[in-house]
Amino acid sequence: MIIDIHAHPSDMQSAQYLAPYFQQAATDRHLLDGTPVVRGGLLISPEQYIKDMDEAGVDKTAMLNASVIPDTHIYEQYLKPYPERFIGFTGSNPLVVDGNLLNNGAFDQKNWENTRRSITELGFKGIKLLPAYGHYSPLDPRVYPFYALAAELNVPLIIHMGGTPVRHAALGFAKPIDVDRILFEFPTLRINMPHLGWPWEDELLAIMVRSPHLYTDISFIGEMGLQRVAHKLITARNFGVISRVMFGTDPLCRPLKFYIDWLRNDLNKYAVKQGEQPLTKDEIAGILGKNALKFVGVNIA
Ligand SMILES: [Zn+2]
Repeated sequence: MIIDIHAHPSDMQSAQYLAPYFQQAATDRHLLDGTPVVRGGLLISPEQYIKDMDEAGVDKTAMLNASVIPDTHIYEQYLKPYPERFIGFTGSNPLVVDGNLLNNGAFDQKNWENTRRSITELGFKGIKLLPAYGHYSPLDPRVYPFYALAAELNVPLIIHMGGTPVRHAALGFAKPIDVDRILFEFPTLRINMPHLGWPWEDELLAIMVRSPHLYTDISFIGEMGLQRVAHKLITARNFGVISRVMFGTDPLCRPLKFYIDWLRNDLNKYAVKQGEQPLTKDEIAGILGKNALKFVGVNIA
């Protein structure tokens, strides 16, 4: 089974909701074959997304709301028509946001209630938070009701802690170490800090060593660079946490199959070249699917 634990809706309407975020990327971005990414140009309908998944052999994809798309849109376009293929994560901003997408300080009770409803009534399987994008600390006490909600409903939480080319994201709120405290206070909560915590991979992997319910994913791999990711995957294996590393893409990792083939065929070539033990078949199968099954838990469709 192959599960992509980290993707975002790229249909026309979602792109319109997301435009204020992603039109403000600070750096030029290229696909791995050198094609420049046309801002706002990545449009994939839900039907096409299913075709792409079929072509690449992906069984299920987690569609993550990045805070600004109404959950009802993701439900209508993805979860309702394809309940076996898409896993929904609500994207909540715990604090009220102003017109610039920055928070204005008040706890967003309505958003908390909507998040709860998305899980209990619309079948979303988890919650995503993006502290750096909303300019709040994951340690802010006003965020805790969202952690408590995930713990109460026994659903996994994805917290983006790491770099991003999005201009208005505040990296002072993005360091993985800040989530360390949360893991003490919610010891059973399953948390994924995506992108291997780039560029703080070692910091994240060290937290994973002592935190049995902390996961990561390799989404954004196309932009982190293959050699860097290979090196960090080997580190994760050496640290004994590889069974909590998951396959993920993010919108710019296209075609999907390229990354799956890379994991299966090329990752170990790098390991051997570095004089490291190759990853076992089981470890690679874990990254591609089994680890995500464990992360999403019993609620998976
Ligand atoms: Zn993402």
